[in-house]
Amino acid sequence: MPGDQNNSTERTAIQKLSMALKLPAFERGWAWLAGAGPGDPGLITLLGLHAIAAADVILYDALSNDDLLGFAQPHTELIFAGKRAGQRSCKQSDISQMLVFLAREKKRVLRLKGGDPLVFGRGAEEALILAEAGIPFRIVPGVTAGIGGLAYAGIPVTHRDSNQVVTFLTGHGADGKLPEHDWVSIARGSPTLVLYMARKHAGEIAARLITAGRKPSEPAAIVSSASHENQSVHVTTLEGLGAVAAESTAPAILVIGENVLLREKMDWLRAQTAFLQQV
Ligand code: SAH
Repeated sequence: MPGDQNNSTERTAIQKLSMALKLPAFERGWAWLAGAGPGDPGLITLLGLHAIAAADVILYDALSNDDLLGFAQPHTELIFAGKRAGQRSCKQSDISQMLVFLAREKKRVLRLKGGDPLVFGRGAEEALILAEAGIPFRIVPGVTAGIGGLAYAGIPVTHRDSNQVVTFLTGHGADGKLPEHDWVSIARGSPTLVLYMARKHAGEIAARLITAGRKPSEPAAIVSSASHENQSVHVTTLEGLGAVAAESTAPAILVIGENVLLREKMDWLRAQTAFLQQV
């Protein structure tokens, strides 16, 4: 359930900070499309937090951290517009139309999405509908799971020695099937691959990459609930990816490439936990 909306002291502090930083005012009749980051509430941007404290209505996703909604005003209407396991999702066209309708009612409309609103999140579709309807809007970027989520697992998306190219791709097409990517070009051109929505088809993806020339022994990892308290990380190989993915929980980011090995030294979260247990 969303957090308690009686945080008036905190909200005043957010408003003061927003003014001190001269953040743009959230005007009536505007829609803001903001990213909430992958889960840790500390990963939302100041603009995102400012928008939550100023909005009249917030349409939020399953992937944005519910605690953040506690900074909304008591009168702010909170509308769940995401998909939870076992439940039907809101239709995309309904969400977009609702954004237009609410903005026309001169509300300050916040569309809060997990990660970054424009990374595999259909934020661009919503922005285009707002543009067509003549609704003024602002986009507030967020920390995407494929970058920030991996950082929480101690896996950098680039390192000069292992990769100077990284490819982000989705493992789930609009029809639910594995999209027809150019697997040969992807396999050859990008040492590091970061895959969103890829648990279901992980085995098939690995097989295509191996056929295209990637080594079956190449390191790979699955990061579930990245940056949440229940984050879990499983390191495997390309060959083992399908089996490990089948055992993993959603949401999960998959990563393939030598960078995965850097986690051995860069897993700062484990180091921090060990440190805190000592003191
Ligand atoms: N706009 C989001 C992505 C939405 S697509 C972003 O920028 O992060 C949904 C997919 O994102 C999930 O299937 C999963 O692959 C990934 N994802 C989002 N949050 C995640 C998290 N906390 N941990 C792992 N994967 C996550």
